Amino acid sequence: MKLIMPEAVKAIIDTLEQNGYETYAVGGCVRDSVMGKEPSDWDICTSALPEETLTVLHADNIIQNGLKHGTVTVRVEGQNYEITTFRTDGIYRDNRHPESVQFVRSLHEDLARRDFTINALAYSPEKGLQDDFGGLSDMANKVLRCVGEPDKRFGEDALRILRALRFASVLGFSIEPVTAESIHRNAALLHHISAERIFSELVKLLQGGHAEQVLLAYPDVLGVFMPEILPMAGFAQHNPYHCYDVWTHTVKAVAAIRPTKTLRLAALFHDIGKPQCHRRDERGIDHFHGHPDVSEGMAEQILKRLKCDKKTISNVCRLIKMHDVRVPAQRKNVRKMIAKTGMERFPDLLELKRADAKAQSPQHLQETLDYVDALEAVYREEAAKDNDFTLRTLAVNGRDLQALGMTDGKRIGQCLNRLLEKVIDCELENQKERLLSEVVSWNIISI
Ligand code: ATP
Ligand code: MG
Repeated sequence: MKLIMPEAVKAIIDTLEQNGYETYAVGGCVRDSVMGKEPSDWDICTSALPEETLTVLHADNIIQNGLKHGTVTVRVEGQNYEITTFRTDGIYRDNRHPESVQFVRSLHEDLARRDFTINALAYSPEKGLQDDFGGLSDMANKVLRCVGEPDKRFGEDALRILRALRFASVLGFSIEPVTAESIHRNAALLHHISAERIFSELVKLLQGGHAEQVLLAYPDVLGVFMPEILPMAGFAQHNPYHCYDVWTHTVKAVAAIRPTKTLRLAALFHDIGKPQCHRRDERGIDHFHGHPDVSEGMAEQILKRLKCDKKTISNVCRLIKMHDVRVPAQRKNVRKMIAKTGMERFPDLLELKRADAKAQSPQHLQETLDYVDALEAVYREEAAKDNDFTLRTLAVNGRDLQALGMTDGKRIGQCLNRLLEKVIDCELENQKERLLSEVVSWNIISI
């Protein structure tokens, strides 16, 4: 098998080989290349010790800060390449980091420390593909399998539990049964992993093309760091709009929405407050009044805990809060909705509403999609007018009100916001003379 690799990688491998060191591209880049995908980064492993790599490659474009762990980083044309000495990991005491690493001279031992068979592949143009753990056949069968004993490997580094779910979701692989059982059994070890690392894997998992199958099969694993999701699993909804329990509905909404970070997180949490808001009426129909606000609050807490960035939290929360708003699609109402989401976030709300509908009973689907189309039609008209429903595009500003004789800054702010509300409600045209005469009619100028 011949793989295409960047010139820089070839040059590094050639140079080290010419100096007598065995050298390969290794891990994710080989996996992705074999699968015909463009690798995101190229890692190189070698029998050369870090000092030997430094000597052979000359030091001018080299970043040395990973030397202790055996890593030399070379920068070529703006791209970093990590060159790591073959190594084995020492004992793991904290379920995440080895106490020490030992440099070794054989590729086999280095491949043995890697997490999954498909990630334990190495390649050099001269020696071809090195597949000591059956990665190639697992890849052909779309199977994710630990290298070695799963309980031991997840015990060493619990992050591998989430990496497994992430690869299953992104690649569409099934998790081999012994590995899968071990994941369920060891899930609680994720308590040892930092929030940042968990969140980064979770986001990749959610954005995978096969997130549906993974989320349905492993709510217990996600529940270790988000116990709030657990009540959703199996929570029935006796309601003509729904044909799934809350978790299945949630997962189908995640799968139905475009895979951006914000949209997938919004779909994941949009109904998380439902179990708390549940009420069954005399006719045996379930209602979940107030769940968007409760879900919003829970999502905010979870995302803060997972160290999500503030902007994403704010966008996700706004979408969740508004996902269930269903006012008639008249211009005035839609303008109010747009003012609440912000012009640029409104299309995301339309997407969430569509995905939410697709994950409900099919008999109401068309009706809801028609409704969302009607919202979108109004949105498009408004967007074409370049109106963003903020004070920025209001036809008067603070100076205009000062010119009328107003002096109190706070009062000026209140007046501008009142005018904006009336413009959004279609009570007033956004036109300077009209707005100023409105303010005059309030008879407050002297106050
Ligand atoms: P991607 O870069 O697409 O996120 P990747 O598999 O390349 O996926 P990296 O974090 O770049 O992931 O790691 C490169 C390689 O290092 C992996 O393919 C694997 O061989 C090894 N590796 C990474 N993390 C671990 C881990 N926690 N335990 C064991 N091996 C790991
Ligand atoms: Mg990688």
